[in-house]
Formats: sequence, C-alpha cells, structure tokens
Amino acid sequence: MYLYNSATHKKEEFKTHTSGHVEMYTCGPTVYHFAHIGNLRSYIMEDVLEKFLRYEGYDVNRVMNITDVGHLASDADTGEDKMLKGAKREHKSVMEIAQFYTDAFFEDCKKLNIKRPDVVEPATNCIDDYIKIVSSLIDKGYAYLAGGNVYFDTSKLPRYYIFNDHDEEDLAVGVREGVEEDTNKRNKNDFVLWFTKSKFEDQALKWDSPWGVGYPGWHIECTGISLKHNGEYLDLHCGGVDNAFPHHTNEIAQSESYLGHPWCPQWFHVHHLNTTSGKMSKSKGEFLTVSLLEEKGYDPLSYRFFCLQSHYRKALVFSWENLTNAQGAYQKLIKKIAALNPKDGEADAAVVEEYKQKFLQQVGNDLNTSMGVTALYDALKAKTNDATKLAILGSFDEVLSLSLLEKAAALREKESQSTSAAGGYTITGEGDPAIDALVLQRYEAKKAKNFAEADRIRDELKSQGIEITDTKEGASWRRV
Ligand code: AMP
Ligand code: ZN
Repeated sequence: MYLYNSATHKKEEFKTHTSGHVEMYTCGPTVYHFAHIGNLRSYIMEDVLEKFLRYEGYDVNRVMNITDVGHLASDADTGEDKMLKGAKREHKSVMEIAQFYTDAFFEDCKKLNIKRPDVVEPATNCIDDYIKIVSSLIDKGYAYLAGGNVYFDTSKLPRYYIFNDHDEEDLAVGVREGVEEDTNKRNKNDFVLWFTKSKFEDQALKWDSPWGVGYPGWHIECTGISLKHNGEYLDLHCGGVDNAFPHHTNEIAQSESYLGHPWCPQWFHVHHLNTTSGKMSKSKGEFLTVSLLEEKGYDPLSYRFFCLQSHYRKALVFSWENLTNAQGAYQKLIKKIAALNPKDGEADAAVVEEYKQKFLQQVGNDLNTSMGVTALYDALKAKTNDATKLAILGSFDEVLSLSLLEKAAALREKESQSTSAAGGYTITGEGDPAIDALVLQRYEAKKAKNFAEADRIRDELKSQGIEITDTKEGASWRRV
C-alpha cells in the first residue's frame, strides 16, 4: 500500500521492520467525557487502515492507550488535568469517571463497527515504565529538574520539529495567546515528563517517584505504553492531526533519545471533523455524540459511511444535511444488496479475487476510502451471478465494515415476510422470494379449491427439499 507519511511529507510505499507484521500504535481517548463524532472520525479511519493492512495479509499488533491521567487543559503543560475537571463536573472520583467514559467509548466504537485494538492500556497502569524512561533521560542529559518538575530539554536535539516546516515562533505553544508561560522551562517547547508541582494542588492521582510524589505528563504515556506493547521498533503511529504537535513531536523526541535509535518511521494523521463554527472539540463543551445521532434517528453506521466518502487527509465538514444525504445513500445501497438473490448460483472465486485485487490497488492508494465505496457500486454492476456479487461485497466489507450483508439479509427477511403478508397470509421462511412465491401460489390454489394444483406445488417444493407447515397466520417453510 501507499500511504502519506507526515514525517517525510510524502506518499510512500508502506514498509515494516518485520516482513508481514505491523506494529501499530494509536493515541487513545482522554476519558473525561464522551467521545465526540470528531474523535470518532479519527478512530473510524484508523480502524479502516488496520483492517486494510490485515486484508492485504499483514498480521497486525495494534496498541491503544487510555489517557486517564496527565492530559492538562493546555498543551503548554498548564491548566487543570482534564480528568480532574471531569470528576469535579460530575462529583465523582477520577477513577469512576475514567471507567465510565472508557466503557462509553468502546460502546460507541461497537456501534460504529470499530474493532477493539489488540492491546488497550490505561495510562495509570504503567507508572513504573514512565519512571524508568524518565530516569534514563535524566541520566543521559536529555531531561532536567526545575521547580520540582522534570522537563525534557528540546535544545539537546538536532531536529525537534518533524511534522511541519513552520518556524519555532509559530509552533511555540508556551506563548500562545491566553496561555501562561511556565518559567521553569529552559526552552519554549520543553515539556514536562513528570509533575510534582503544578498550579493546582488537588491532583487526585499521585505516585511516588525519585523526584517526589507526582504524576506523569501526557506525552510520556504514549512512549511508555508503546515501548511496553509494541517493542522498540514501531512501524506505524496514528492520531488526529492536532496530535502532531506538540504531542507526537514530543513522543518522538523522548522515545528516540531514550532508545538511541530511530523509533517510528511512518506517521498517519487524520484531519479534523469541523462544524461550520470550526473544529469539534470536547473542551468547547458543545459537541455531537453517537447517542445524539441515534436519538435523532440516525443509524451510527450512516456516520461511518459519511466518513468513508471523504479522504482522511481533508477536513470534513459536518452538517445534519450532509449526514441525512449519507444515510439516504447508505440505505439505498443496502436495498440494492438486499435485492440480490443469495441462491443465484455459486460464488465464482476467480471473479471475487479479481475484484479484490482492484480494491487493494484503489484503496491502497493512500487509504482512498471513497474509492472503496465506489467499488461497492461497481460490484453491484458486475457481469456475474448474485452469489458472486454478494461474495465480493462481503469481501470489501471486511475493510469498510458497514455490515452490508447482515443488513441486507435482515431487510430481505423483513421484505419477504411483509410481501407475503398480502391478504393477511403471512409466510415465514428463510428469505427466498422464489420459494415464498410458490408457497403463496399453493395458498391461492387451495383458496380456489384447486387441490390438485395445491398438491402439485407442495410436491414441487418437497422435491426442492422444502417442508411447509401451515400456521395460524399463514405458512412457514424450511429446508430439510
Ligand atoms: P482526545 O480524547 O482529546 O485525546 O482525542 C482523541 C483523538 O481524537 C485524538 O487522536 C485527536 O487527535 C482526535 N481528534 C480530536 N478532535 C478531533 C476532530 N475534531 N476531528 C478528528 N479527530 C479529532
Ligand atoms: Zn499519544
């Protein structure tokens, strides 16, 4: 596959350290509130990427952290810990908040068909790992103690800015408007590895450390968790584009300084979901959740379909109108698939493979998911039998995860029951319109007292292995 790499600013052929195996890391949610559909856009696209790599034949180890400590309100290491803010808002403990919103996050993921990563690790589980890394960074001269906190010294690196070509002034988070500068820092972009002192004294979670009782900074979490579960050589690191600086930049700085060798060559960043008033963000307080979409009558998978229609490297504007259009297109697609007859022939493996190769090429061009959606319509138009079309659609859905075959089968079943319900005669069967039609003909023959015809139809069905049972509402049939 070819993937845009934010670290080199180029689209490149995807490579791994070990042939056929991908070590993948994803920055997980900060669990002080519900995930909004912007966060979930990032997780949907990362999910498609993971599934695409598996579809290509890679074996993937995907690791995700859960940020339950250390993510402060400002990226410049100031302000309150977001978790504490959530706990105060809801008059609960930090750990209660963390558990509640972690569960809520995975429930949302389930509704959006986002697979749970192989490893999910709460940041508070790995304090010893961070302490080990921070101690080593101090020993090697990359970190210093000031005002009770441990800072990473960015001036020690020949190349600190990885992801963009902006100058230091543009990037300096410490001097952003409205953000108070931390006077302990030797350089503007130095960042905290371990806090013992901060402006607020009521931090709920604290641990002992060689530098006093305190808690880890947000960036060190991802380094610690990735090194623990992915090993020293990571192949692919993912996150929303707002994480590129300073979070990912700092992850690289500390990981490579600690390891003494390059860490992760490929970086995948998903661009933002915006509303007409700008980036959707939790801290703004007003944001859209999966539950709200459901309350308004949307199928969460319509939102997944909406995300797949556009490229991950372009900002996506959300509006109810756009979502309504996506839902309409998604439902129409399901209807078209439901109209295919699963009993129409046998799936032709060679044709399925031919379509798979084309899909791999098209979607493998920098995760072009809109081409993936187009491929679904191409499959519907293929000059082949319905069983093969369904096999192709099922194959593509291993990557797109739109529950296409399940939803189409449910619709087929529902339609076969309701069509057969004409005149109060309900047929329940295994969702085959041709059989339903014969059962109905038999009923009509009986009604017209044409018993010879009714028996003939019964025999014909029997010869096809169908057994009919007359019921109170009509008839039910099954294959025996
Ligand atoms: P957080 O829970 O704030 O740590 O964010 C979780 C993930 O969502 C991170 O990868 C962010 O970069 C990403 N993210 C935050 N806001 C948006 C947005 N509006 N659109 C897309 N991704 C976002
Ligand atoms: Zn991270």
